Amino acid sequence: MSALEIRSLAVTYRSDRGDVPAVRGVDLTIEPGETVGLAGESGCGKSTIAGAVLKLLPKGSEVTGQVLLGGEDVYAMKPGRLRAVRWTSAAIVFQGALHSLNPVHRIGAQVAEAVELHGATAADARRRAAELLERVGIPSGRLRSYPHQLSGGQRQRVLIALALACDPALLIADEPTTALDVMVQAQVLELLAELQRDRGLSLLFITHDLSVLASTCERLAVMYAGQIVEHGPSSVVLSAPEHPYTAALARAFPTIGDPASRMNPSGLRGDPPDPSALPTGCSFHPRCDVALPSCGDLAVRLQPAGRARAAACVHVGSGIVKGAS
Ligand code: ADP
Ligand code: MG
Repeated sequence: MSALEIRSLAVTYRSDRGDVPAVRGVDLTIEPGETVGLAGESGCGKSTIAGAVLKLLPKGSEVTGQVLLGGEDVYAMKPGRLRAVRWTSAAIVFQGALHSLNPVHRIGAQVAEAVELHGATAADARRRAAELLERVGIPSGRLRSYPHQLSGGQRQRVLIALALACDPALLIADEPTTALDVMVQAQVLELLAELQRDRGLSLLFITHDLSVLASTCERLAVMYAGQIVEHGPSSVVLSAPEHPYTAALARAFPTIGDPASRMNPSGLRGDPPDPSALPTGCSFHPRCDVALPSCGDLAVRLQPAGRARAAACVHVGSGIVKGAS
């Protein structure tokens, strides 16, 4: 059974300025022990998907489609069941959470509290907190530190330990490296890869930076304007993209660890569209180097593009889309 199965997910936020269709018909499956990357520029709907998985979106948001965790429909769960499933079936390391640790509690106590909330005795929780923190690379000498005494990378490790407190089957890491410098980014990535290997975790790794996914993820889904526009095995998606957006994103973030190569202007011009004012036809056509006149009228659905791959573009299979090199 899949760790996560998302079927035809659509999310519309209600705002003062009207409805915001942030996610528009997304299918995504993660098998046990698999690492899947979800990429796309800021505003494409990635965090919305993360929130939808554990039913953590703001009140009033309209969600349609299905989210199955270990085969169980999250949106059909009674509140008690949902509480039990959050953090045990799936846990999220939230985007931008580096400052969310409680500033007046020692980190050992914060992790122990999370373990204890899920039924461990105080003594067991303390022991398990120390183990978890050790596992993410925080030595026992730091258990009594306060969050402000830790570096950004160490705080991100504490957040990962917190997410692991209930031994979840699926970990969703939403931009876990974005606020960190490149050396520390690489260390956090390595930690996630190790955890995935030794705990058999399923991992949904969310980032706007395609280059960090190349070495981490088996499969990759690329999002644009609330939809998945390409998915497939990471190596082929990155080396021979079928969607012009994937190719442009790969050119924009070519090499991990090389700040000079970031946001190469040849990669992407302009910004992604506002979801409440989407272009007609293919949402990417106004920024696309290889758009045809018909792309402004007609959106192409995801279609097969080789083994275990799909892309949503009129050019699929034509070889016209040029890769990152
Ligand atoms: P990403 O994580 O890819 O950057 P998000 O899922 O955070 O994208 O946001 C997708 C779109 O939904 C964006 O246009 C964002 O402005 C909008 N959005 C996010 N949260 C809300 C909200 N609570 N109310 C209205 N619009 C929102
Ligand atoms: Mg986000």
